[in-house]
Amino acid sequence: MKLKEKHPGKLFVLSGPSGAGKGTICKRLLEETEDLSLSVSMTTRQPRTGEIDGVSYFFTDVETFENHIAGGELLEFAKVYGNYYGTPKRAVLEKLTRGTDVILEIDMQGALKVKENYPDGVFIFILPPSMSELRKRLTGRGTESAEAIELRLGETFKELSYIEKYDYCVVNGVLEEAVARVKAIVIAEHSKVAFTAEELIASYKEEL
Ligand code: 5GP
Repeated sequence: MKLKEKHPGKLFVLSGPSGAGKGTICKRLLEETEDLSLSVSMTTRQPRTGEIDGVSYFFTDVETFENHIAGGELLEFAKVYGNYYGTPKRAVLEKLTRGTDVILEIDMQGALKVKENYPDGVFIFILPPSMSELRKRLTGRGTESAEAIELRLGETFKELSYIEKYDYCVVNGVLEEAVARVKAIVIAEHSKVAFTAEELIASYKEEL
């Protein structure tokens, strides 16, 4: 059956409150899933310890970022916690055209913009098991000041209000289970009927 080759890759968009574990889930997914690629975003925020330019993000200044906006080079962008974040368009579209799935780990404002331009995307919301667990995770990772943590926690309820725009939600209480659920979503999306009966019959006939 040759039908699958005809379809471009799928775009998976993962969002969720800061500390819900999107990054960890994405990392595991990339290690364990074939033909899946993470889009590296561009940001004006300062690198954290251990972050690598071009791998974690493309770190840049405001002027360069705004030039990218003006040049239409971003699939979407948003200002999150006072910094710009955006998805470079060309890399994503090239991968999708080649048949590679792409995963975007982006905030809700960005996800909505992607949905407007790319309604075929699959939108997944990662939820923390509770607010107290969220606070514990944000404090535990030690990358943000107490003030930044409070800012992020304060934003959480606003972020949760976007849930209805998403196709799926996954609670990240036990990491293994959350990863398994996201993988199941990827498999389910690839099992959707994405061709006509005519195309299906023609492809089987070709092999006869
Ligand atoms: P962090 O600073 O913790 O790496 O990311 C802060 C927030 O920005 C997270 O919610 C993350 O998902 C979001 N983010 C990262 N890259 C992008 C992007 O390219 N576009 C948008 N809209 N949000 C992004």
